[in-house]
Amino acid sequence: MGKHDDTCENAGRELTSRRLRAVIRRRRIRRERHTWRFVSGGLAAAIITGWVVSALSGQAAAQAADAEVDMEATIVQADWKVDEVLAGMATEYAAEQAAAEAAAAQAAAEAQAAAEAEAQAKAEAEAAAAAEAEAAANPWTLPSTASITSYYGMRNGSLHGGTDFGNNEGDEIVSVGAGTVTYVGYEAGGYGNVVYIDHGDGVETRYAHASEVLVEVGQEVEEGEAVILAGTTGNSTGPHLHFEVLLDGEKVDSLAWLQEQGLDVG
Ligand SMILES: [Zn+2]
Repeated sequence: MGKHDDTCENAGRELTSRRLRAVIRRRRIRRERHTWRFVSGGLAAAIITGWVVSALSGQAAAQAADAEVDMEATIVQADWKVDEVLAGMATEYAAEQAAAEAAAAQAAAEAQAAAEAEAQAKAEAEAAAAAEAEAAANPWTLPSTASITSYYGMRNGSLHGGTDFGNNEGDEIVSVGAGTVTYVGYEAGGYGNVVYIDHGDGVETRYAHASEVLVEVGQEVEEGEAVILAGTTGNSTGPHLHFEVLLDGEKVDSLAWLQEQGLDVG
């Protein structure tokens, strides 16, 4: 092989190289076009393609402006629709939220009312049970269920040493507690027919103005046992019970004492 052959070979190589480059360029263009179609599909591709074509044909400015206007119109319309949809969604959401809140508030109110009713029922049941237990446990009771007509205290310069109950003639009067009858008598200027009962621990009770005495000295009586019938004997202007409590021989406010024993004196 000589220099000519080398030259021919070089020329052939150069030709091949140009062809190769052309092929590569075409392929690159095809590939780029191919890629371009994939990447810029839809409206944007149409607009930009239109812009490129228009630029080449000398109508670039007008068509680009039109495309831009169209695009802006589309964007504005799209924005408006998005706003409308969002506003609708917001309204719907707010309505749902309000309904949910109202339902939750109602449920909470109902639950609270139920809890309060349950608590009240429980408290009432407990109070009733406590009252029953207390009544069963309390060794003391009222001597009469009649209303009180006069209290312990000073009256016309002297001590009224007991509590008056407005009983009618013949009403049964009961012992306020278990005890022993220590005195039965008649005192014309004072108690009239009267009964004394010793309950122990220094507690004594007296039941005065009786029309009739139902017990004897030394008799054991129970709480609530009838001891006299109400009357107006002695220093009395009408039928009633005069009830006294003495602690270690001293007269005390008998109504207050009954209250201290846990009794409801009305
Ligand atoms: Zn009295």
